[in-house]
Amino acid sequence: MVKAPKKKQEHIHEQRMTASEMTLALPSATDVFVVGGGPAGLAAAIAARQRGFDVIVADGMQPPIDKACGEGLMPDALEALAQLGIRLPSGEAHPFCRIRFLSSSLAADAEFPFRGCGLALRRTSLHRILMEHAARLGTTFLWRTAVTGISQEGVRLGQRFVRARWIIGADGANSRVRRWAGMNAGPRPRLRYAFRRHYRVTPWTDHMEVYWGAHCQGYATAVSADQVCVALASHDSALRLETGLEALPGLSARLRGAETVSTERGALTGNRRFARIWRGNVALIGDASGTVDAITGEGMGLAFRQAVALAKCLHWGELSNYQSEHRRLMLRPWWMARLMLTLDGRSALQQRTLQVFQKHPEVFRRFVALHVGALPPTRVVRDGLTLGWGLLTA
Ligand SMILES: Cc1cc2nc3c(=O)[nH]c(=O)nc-3n(C[C@H](O)[C@H](O)[C@H](O)COP(=O)(O)OP(=O)(O)OC[C@H]3O[C@@H](n4cnc5c(N)ncnc54)[C@H](O)[C@@H]3O)c2cc1C
Repeated sequence: MVKAPKKKQEHIHEQRMTASEMTLALPSATDVFVVGGGPAGLAAAIAARQRGFDVIVADGMQPPIDKACGEGLMPDALEALAQLGIRLPSGEAHPFCRIRFLSSSLAADAEFPFRGCGLALRRTSLHRILMEHAARLGTTFLWRTAVTGISQEGVRLGQRFVRARWIIGADGANSRVRRWAGMNAGPRPRLRYAFRRHYRVTPWTDHMEVYWGAHCQGYATAVSADQVCVALASHDSALRLETGLEALPGLSARLRGAETVSTERGALTGNRRFARIWRGNVALIGDASGTVDAITGEGMGLAFRQAVALAKCLHWGELSNYQSEHRRLMLRPWWMARLMLTLDGRSALQQRTLQVFQKHPEVFRRFVALHVGALPPTRVVRDGLTLGWGLLTA
């Protein structure tokens, strides 16, 4: 039974409750149970509350939850956040209005067409903002509470059981919900190793920068007036951020002498998809439902769009449409990642592509427009051909 969203102010305090207090407060049944309270789980909770469902979110961690991330939200991600009723406060986030690709000797940059700027902010700040918004809408939270199993009837939390009409698996790339529901089938991609760290330095640019090295890429995004988030991704399992930076002299020169203000965090990244993302009353969202490589900067934006689509399907009581909508939403970032990663580890092609982008800024502009969804996917083919012709004739 779908009810109008109601405010439950007490839930904002629930994160500070003791385990025994939480046990007493735990409802025995809910409309929607979200496993995982990262960006995808919180977005799913918000979208479901907007549709009037009672929602419980459980996460094994204590908020605010941090994670290895480039921390950039593209303009299309901000549009999806706005649909969830969230506008990031200007003091909390730092704008970037352009993307720049750099190698040792070449650079190409373009602004986001039509769709304004992106925003970058610390993962912990974004988590707090999403959590507070979900709490204001009346979401029930169970932090430091791992889900230990699911059945058609509901969700198991150790000795406790909560009946749920819908179960949403938002438990990240290694999703146990996906495995429990028998949805792990899908091609096994070659994943990459990624690390991030924050440096105290005055931002030198209003771009999101991608530095291309022979075997790795470095991403730099200012997250505040005095902090830059740097992420590095490669196929080399032994390569850590500081050593990887040595292969990116342009970026390491910017960071020389800067104080590090966070510990290095690592994660796997890559394009990964699954044959199905729903079964019975279980649906997957965010990284649990498939990932796009970190190079796209699109993982969270994708999750926000999926949340809106999923809540619509829950509203109609029918998950089958979610599969096709999910596939459609994933298509663009998926292909953009594949396109960009053709340059990974191919120095000659990298140099040639950057030469074309530098010489023909309009090609790079269209590439960026495509990336943020300001051009239809059919343009990938046309612009791919233009780029190919440019590579042959540059
Ligand atoms: C290096 C790097 C850079 C990136 N840069 C960007 C970027 O700039 N912009 C962008 O949009 N995206 C970026 N991404 C992608 C983005 O980080 C992910 O897409 C995003 O974190 C996915 O969110 P999620 O909620 O699906 O998963 P997660 O953030 O992994 O959250 C899953 C949650 O589930 C919880 N959980 C797991 N199992 C259980 C259980 N059994 N019970 C309860 N809770 C459980 C975990 O504690 C966790 O909090 C980047 C990724 C990497 C690796």
